[in-house]
Amino acid sequence: MNRVALLGSTGSIGTQTLSVARALRGRVEIVALAGGRNARTLSSQLSEFRPRMYHALDPGAVDSCGATMASLEEIASDDGVDTVVVATSGRAGLAPTLAALRHGKKVALASKEVLVMAGHLVMEAARCVGASLVPIDSEHSAVWQCLQGENGEISRLMLTASGGPFRDYTQEMLSQVTATEALSHPVWSMGAKITIDSATLMNKGLELIEAHWLFGVLLERIEVLVHPECIVHSMVEFVDGSVKAQLGVPDMSMPIQYALTHPDRLPGLAGRLRWDSLRTLSFRPVDDSRFPCLGLARGAIRTGSTYPAALCGADEAAVALFLRGAIQFNDIAPLVESALSSHCPSEAKDIDAVVAAYERAHEYVLERPATYSRHSECRTEQV
Ligand code: MG
Repeated sequence: MNRVALLGSTGSIGTQTLSVARALRGRVEIVALAGGRNARTLSSQLSEFRPRMYHALDPGAVDSCGATMASLEEIASDDGVDTVVVATSGRAGLAPTLAALRHGKKVALASKEVLVMAGHLVMEAARCVGASLVPIDSEHSAVWQCLQGENGEISRLMLTASGGPFRDYTQEMLSQVTATEALSHPVWSMGAKITIDSATLMNKGLELIEAHWLFGVLLERIEVLVHPECIVHSMVEFVDGSVKAQLGVPDMSMPIQYALTHPDRLPGLAGRLRWDSLRTLSFRPVDDSRFPCLGLARGAIRTGSTYPAALCGADEAAVALFLRGAIQFNDIAPLVESALSSHCPSEAKDIDAVVAAYERAHEYVLERPATYSRHSECRTEQV
């Protein structure tokens, strides 16, 4: 029995993880649930799964069903937990991930900020005690699956991207898109922040940084390819020129399940590819001029220190501004770029240092919507 603590249980990955856990009853036991502000969903999850521990931002609003309230770090380091699924949003997953790894737990990671902000700290914590850190994100799960049984050196990683809903838009069209349009991802159903990040391709920039840390591959050896069909979830080219790809229907239940049952494969919830109706698998490079966020992410990790943490904070704030209509879609990248160029880096020596960098960049962006309000006025007139 795998005793699982799920951090971020009410979000998109959290609820899908519980669907997988439901299907894996007898093999997976949910022993702790941590949710954010959605007290109703958390209460109903607590009532169904009856875990021993829970965490809520507002415990008074939650029906705990006898579970004991605990902090995220307490849950992550509890003796009765084998695997910690980190599916929190923003920077909330950082401290519990480090706590879990230091206590030798297996961590199944969905939260991107953890490795982007503090990849060196996280990988070092895992290495020190031999703890296992496995990916949930479909691209990293694909690479991980391709690497099973391999000793050979990686020549290149090819991360695939759907390209988001605006992949064929011109610069002019991109300046007009609304939050509602940006929230309609053509393939994947995800939370609001990651959906906007998919539309700007910042999501792929964050994934590139994660892949660099997870698989120890040089940035120069990681490519991003737009693959609108979302069937090939990523590929690995080895030094002998052989390429392995992982394919499947776009359904997060597969990588979530694999992270929980590895090295075993079990029948699960994911659908099957219909090869008879699969006509095309296409790949093309990203147009950096229309989607500058990928380049910003590459630049941040190349410069290192606290720049990747600042990138996360700036992007989180810029996406929030866009969602509330304070800036345009095309303002997200320049705002993040502005936050990075005015960032005063420090040595990313511990959680406090990276969190401080995140907060400073977050604040910097939130203070600047007025600079971009000219665009917002234009848009209001057009509406
Ligand atoms: Mg992904």
